[in-house]
Formats: sequence, C-alpha cells, structure tokens
Amino acid sequence: MKTIVYKISETDETVWLKAAGGVLAAGGLVGIPTETVYGLAANALDAEAAAKIYAAKGRPSDNPLIVHISDISMLDGLVTEIPGTAQKLAETFWPGPLTMIFPKKDVVPYGTTGGLDTVAVRMPSHPVARKLIGTTGIVLAAPSANTSGRPSPTRAEHVYEDLNGKIDMILDDGPVGIGIESTVVDMTGSVPMILRPGYITREMMEAVVGEVRVDPAILGENRDKNFQPKAPGMKYKHYAPKGDLTLVSGPDEKVVKKIRELASEKLAAGFRVGIIATEETKALYETVVQGNSKPVVMSIGTRKDEDTIIHNLFDVLRRMDGEEVSYIYSESFEEGSRGKAIMNRMLKAAGHQQIYV
Ligand code: AMP
Ligand code: MG
Repeated sequence: MKTIVYKISETDETVWLKAAGGVLAAGGLVGIPTETVYGLAANALDAEAAAKIYAAKGRPSDNPLIVHISDISMLDGLVTEIPGTAQKLAETFWPGPLTMIFPKKDVVPYGTTGGLDTVAVRMPSHPVARKLIGTTGIVLAAPSANTSGRPSPTRAEHVYEDLNGKIDMILDDGPVGIGIESTVVDMTGSVPMILRPGYITREMMEAVVGEVRVDPAILGENRDKNFQPKAPGMKYKHYAPKGDLTLVSGPDEKVVKKIRELASEKLAAGFRVGIIATEETKALYETVVQGNSKPVVMSIGTRKDEDTIIHNLFDVLRRMDGEEVSYIYSESFEEGSRGKAIMNRMLKAAGHQQIYV
C-alpha cells in the first residue's frame, strides 16, 4: 500500500478533507494529528475498518479503541447512559485531553471496544481532527498511531516511521501540542475512576465533580500476575525504546552521581549509553568520559515547566533509538501535578526498572 502524506500547512483544506474523508468513508486508515499524540483513525462504527487498525499497529485485539467525536450531540448515539458527573466533566474539559468510559450502544461494534460492553469516548480539540469528524460525520476510532509497544507518535514523521506502507494516508500538521495521551476515566461506577493518568489531573476533575478515584494498577502498584487492570491497555509493555532504560529516583545530587556512575560502568564495558537529563542537569553529564567514549546526553525539558517534559517525552525515547544506545539512564519526574502521568509512561518504557538512591 502506498501511504499518501498531506502537509496541512501546504494543502488546501478542501483537498485534504475530501481525500481523508474519502479514505475513511471507504473503511481505510488515516494518521491524524490530535492535541495529545497522533492518532490512527478509522470509522469506529465499522468493525472491518477497526480491525485494520489492530492489524496495522500489531495491537492485541482485546485492547479497546477510543472513539473520537466533534460535538457533544454525537455522544448520545454511542452510549446508553450519560451520568450527571460525565455531563459536568464534558462541559469543563471537552474539547480536550479527557476520555470517558460509558456503557455502549449496539451500534458500537465489539471490534472497536475489544469485546467490552463499554466504550471510551473523547472530543479532541485539535482543529484538523475536529474538522474531519465534523465534516464527514464519521466518529473515529483512533488509538495512538504507532506500532504497538513503541513510543507514541508526537510528530507525523513518527507515524511514517512506524506505519508507512501499512495505512492509506497521513495528515501532517507538525508536532502535537501536549505530547502524552488523554486521561482515561471510567464513568460507569458510582465514583469516577481514573484508569490512565494524563494531562487532565485528578485534582482538576475533583474541583468539578468531587471525589475521583485512581485505579491502583496505575504506576505499577499491585504488580502481581493475578491483578487485572481495568483498562486492558495497562497490562502491555508500552512505549519501550530499543535500549534498556532504567529510571533513577531520589534527591537531585544523588541521582546525578548515580547516573554518572552507571553510565561510566557501561561505557567502560564498551556499550553505547544514553542519558535523559533536564536543562538544569545536562551539563553535569557531559563531562562523563571513558577512554574515547562519551554518553549521548539529551535534555527532556526543564523542571521549571513540567509541560516541556510532557511535550518531549516520546520524542526523546524515539531519538534514543536513533542513537542506537544499549543502555539508557533517566532522571525521574514524580514531583509536579502531572508527575503521575509522566512517570506512568516512563515506568512502562523502563519495564518498571527503577533505582532509588
Ligand atoms: P490508546 O488509544 O492507544 O491511547 O489506548 C486507549 C486506552 O484506553 C487503552 O489503555 C485502553 O485500555 C483504554 N480504554 C479504551 N476503551 C476502554 C474501555 N471501554 N474500558 C477500559 N479502558 C478502555
Ligand atoms: Mg497507544
């Protein structure tokens, strides 16, 4: 299959809309920009189209897809019940990076929900995604547009890297705004329950609807084999770079010292080593040398603004792959209001390898 790429900035809106709309109406796949990460979109109400998403990504078939809408009126057609709390959250956070789970109507195929009787719905704020859904009237199943298990795509180039030849089209609108996936919250119980932390925090939701709980599976608590996370996606290895990633946590000075030691050991043993640092600390790693070899040091952002870390997270993991490092050591980011969302991705990428100093 030839994957056609349209650069949004260089293409007439009528042209890309017609082309992408045509692909979606015919049951095909389009990589689209959203404000969180790039999504791999297909008609959510067409089980065959949804099946193509799983095939292109190599995604396990029990990992459900999020359905994207462009107007609140589309929600009624998809779900049997909209609790008052969901109404309030929608009014406050939609369009935006919040996904809510509801009991599904029969029109939503099990092929989209991974066999579940519930459906996850989000209204994105990205103008390209909204225009596409609004104009075609097609609600879009759109998981992250990466090969399953790899870091999520925050640029069209990442989508191309993973899915060229496997999907019909990519709409390239440059780097995304946020950089991590939406917060997923289950609205089917008496109290909303966060199944995946994201840009919208528990505190932000609690300010609107009162108590919100967090699924204990998040951040790897309860990691025994028998524990079943509610969001099926939580149980898979995710976001993993090719190099072996270890997170180091503790007071800044001790963390820097430990990462310098670990990097030196691996360099001395002849391996290529990557270090994920911050603007504040990167210079402290650039002096690590073993013979002729030095580590590849990348800054993920500044601790003064955790949104910069969120924005660069997946891109840094992918760039480490490009450097072909065998070992990667990273600082940790538990502190800020979105620390849970950041560490959820970093810990999965590290296969939960974490050292405390
Ligand atoms: P992705 O679109 O790749 O960001 O993944 C979607 C995430 O939402 C996965 O972690 C899914 O497990 C979760 N999800 C989607 N639909 C449901 C649902 N009906 N119940 C629970 N989790 C869901
Ligand atoms: Mg994903």
